[in-house]
Amino acid sequence: MARVSFPRMVELDAVTGLPPRKVLDRDLPVLLRSMGTAGLPMCSIMIDIDHFKKFNDKHGHDIGDLVLRHVSSLIRKAVKFRGEAYRYGGEEITVLMLNTNGAEGLATAERICDVVGDSEIIVMVDGEGLPLSVRISLGVASTETVTGSELLVSSDRALYDAKSKGRNQAVLFRSDRKQVVSTTVIDVHFPSRSAIIGGNYILLKKWFSYSNPTEIEAREIKDPNTDSSEFAEGPIPPYGLVEAEIRGRVSEIERRGNHTFFKFEVRSEIIDLMFKYIKDTRNANR
Ligand code: GH3
Ligand code: MG
Ligand code: MG
Repeated sequence: MARVSFPRMVELDAVTGLPPRKVLDRDLPVLLRSMGTAGLPMCSIMIDIDHFKKFNDKHGHDIGDLVLRHVSSLIRKAVKFRGEAYRYGGEEITVLMLNTNGAEGLATAERICDVVGDSEIIVMVDGEGLPLSVRISLGVASTETVTGSELLVSSDRALYDAKSKGRNQAVLFRSDRKQVVSTTVIDVHFPSRSAIIGGNYILLKKWFSYSNPTEIEAREIKDPNTDSSEFAEGPIPPYGLVEAEIRGRVSEIERRGNHTFFKFEVRSEIIDLMFKYIKDTRNANR
């Protein structure tokens, strides 16, 4: 496999000593792409400190900060060989693990849960050392069962389950969707030079079809991994543009002058919906 490493960190968050959210947002699409190209899974672990508010309320915000820093540093140490930990926001930390499947991600999350739970923090309160204990909840998701753009939300869902089950534990997100889904390939023409990348899941937000839904022209594309949109100008048929999101995976991209052509793999049942969208748009513009 090609060597993939985490992009080099420049700025670290002052409280946690971890790379901040904006670095996570930048790294995630890059890592998803590298792992996707290499055909390897990756995991996201979403971590939240249990009853963190009580540290602030009981001992003050500075002690809260110390606890957060302590937990962050234990997590970062625990994953340093295969992953990176980021401050997602507040007292939430996200770990990304490369070349890691769901079972391995869950095992790592359980190990982190134990390491943090077994640790002791001694804080100085009124000149005396006071031992505090801290617990965390963790949610794990893997690209084996969810798409790249669903990775963070799925681990967050699993975290929510870990909290509802009583906290101080790790839960693996299990997709209730069938693993094998039938897909259909659509030919897409985008009359502009697009930055889309093969293997990525994107959304077509505005599009139309002259004849059938497996040959369409797109006018607005959104990449949820980077939260960026691309627009293209051009003639629009009298019956108008369909404004309905369709989600799929990009492959076989060809850029010719100011045009981009690509194959777009969608779930087969979407085709029926597309027929309906096209018909509705035509009726509405008649
Ligand atoms: P739960 O077990 O459900 O996660 O309970 P919780 O108390 O951890 O959750 P809640 O979301 O109610 O509280 C989180 C608190 O974290 C509220 C916020 O003031 C505090 N917090 C967020 N960021 C920081 C920080 O950087 N430093 C400190 N000291 N507190 C922070
Ligand atoms: Mg929280
Ligand atoms: Mg919390």
